Amino acid sequence: MQDIQTIKSQICRIGRIMYERGYISGPDGNISVRVDKDKIITTPSGVSKGFLHEDMLVLIDMEGKILEKTNYKPSSEIKMHLKVYQEREDIGACVHAHSPYATTFAVLRKPLDKPILAESVFIFGGYIPVAPFATPSTVEVPESIAPFIKDYDAVLLSNHGVLTYDKDLEMAFYKLEIVEFWAKILFMSNQIGTPQVLSPEEIQKVLDLRKDK
Ligand code: 13P
Ligand code: ZN
Repeated sequence: MQDIQTIKSQICRIGRIMYERGYISGPDGNISVRVDKDKIITTPSGVSKGFLHEDMLVLIDMEGKILEKTNYKPSSEIKMHLKVYQEREDIGACVHAHSPYATTFAVLRKPLDKPILAESVFIFGGYIPVAPFATPSTVEVPESIAPFIKDYDAVLLSNHGVLTYDKDLEMAFYKLEIVEFWAKILFMSNQIGTPQVLSPEEIQKVLDLRKDK
């Protein structure tokens, strides 16, 4: 496990990259990292995640209770993040964004189900589900993603955005990038023709590569 200062600076750096890439605008999006079995660092609520300082990050327990005095509130979506940590011991970081292409599919309530890129098959098995609409920041959000957490490392949130998670923040962000790229290429290829999906044999060959990982 990295030390807390390193994790805090990584959260600020990834927040800035998300902002500069246009994955978040205004106060959108949030990031959390598990720093201990039952301690989480989260981005604060209602501020731009593109201009974070380390002292704006909030340390909480698994119930969302604030553990260190701060002037900031934990992310309003922390219940969604906590649900992922509760369901998956292997998860060390969650990233939530409103990135435009993934959010376009979320608005259409269309899963990413076209295995058009080897990475989408290798990383995600060629499918990313859409959770039913849930009012942002409420307990409806963790309830809406609950059925998907065990089997998927990314979920589109209907009419809202996308959530990805992995063992650490670098990997959780990497997954966000791949979801957004997949959604973008699917959108663009649909503009000029019919995207060709990988055949079952091609998919199997890509899946076989996972065994050598
Ligand atoms: P927070 O600023 O409270 O984390 O909320 C941003 C967001 O994306 C809500 O869904
Ligand atoms: Zn959101």
